[in-house]
Amino acid sequence: MTTSRTPEVLKQVQYLASALKAPRIGDVASRLADQARDAGWSFEDYLAAVLDREVSARNASGADQRIRHAGFGARKTLDDFDFDAQPAVRQQVAALAGGGFLTEARNVVLLGPPGTGKTHLAIGLGIKAAHHGHRVLFATATDWVTRLTDAHRAGKLAGELAKLRRYGLIIVDEVGYLPFEQDAANLFFQLVSSRYEHASLILTSNLPFSSWGGVFGDQVVAAAMIDRIVHHADVLTLKGASYRLRNRGIDTLPSIRTTTGDNPG
Ligand code: ADP
Ligand code: MG
Repeated sequence: MTTSRTPEVLKQVQYLASALKAPRIGDVASRLADQARDAGWSFEDYLAAVLDREVSARNASGADQRIRHAGFGARKTLDDFDFDAQPAVRQQVAALAGGGFLTEARNVVLLGPPGTGKTHLAIGLGIKAAHHGHRVLFATATDWVTRLTDAHRAGKLAGELAKLRRYGLIIVDEVGYLPFEQDAANLFFQLVSSRYEHASLILTSNLPFSSWGGVFGDQVVAAAMIDRIVHHADVLTLKGASYRLRNRGIDTLPSIRTTTGDNPG
């Protein structure tokens, strides 16, 4: 039976919870108390249940904030990914989803032709990272270079790199989509170096490492960069035709042959 004091005590709990800036405690205290009485919980069980609601709610809103801040173009989750289309990476992605690579400051490289799900998996892993409590930033390689160039011009490159090191995960999408000028390649190299063994990178590219010399305009810079990236990295190679074009009766990108037949050359 509830005693006549209960409403007053609940009011006090609500006041104390708001003083602690833990409003969910006030919201759940009464309901969980009923549950505790019904199920015969110990005082410790009850306290743990109440605190758990507050902590879970804080974690969820923290993750949501980190996801909004990350700059993902679209919210692609690992749950939405059809691993039957890429069975070879199923195990690797499942292991990475646990987030251990972030605490070890390891990198992930996603390689493969266009449309095979590199960006999707990078965002999916980024969302997982946010749920594991890591700050995340996503941008294309070109956007990263623009950002670093701006910082460099303003004489603030070191500060910018230090700021970025506070992010547990930086995602660089589409490495190799556009080749870099030499200055840009050097800035990108500094980004990679500054994170080496400190914090994780996920990179995606539709070019094999052997072609990165062309992207960075210099075999030596490319080799030094690849060395730092893959020293502690999981490299996932996606294969096959574009997922965008599946079930369309075409399994390759359109060829340049005309269909009119009047221009066989
Ligand atoms: P990439 O970055 O390799 O060019 P994307 O990740 O952008 O490819 O994938 C292209 C589109 O196809 C996206 O809308 C993505 O969500 C979807 N997609 C690709 N692979 C899969 C998959 N295995 N399961 C579900 N959706 C996929
Ligand atoms: Mg992509």
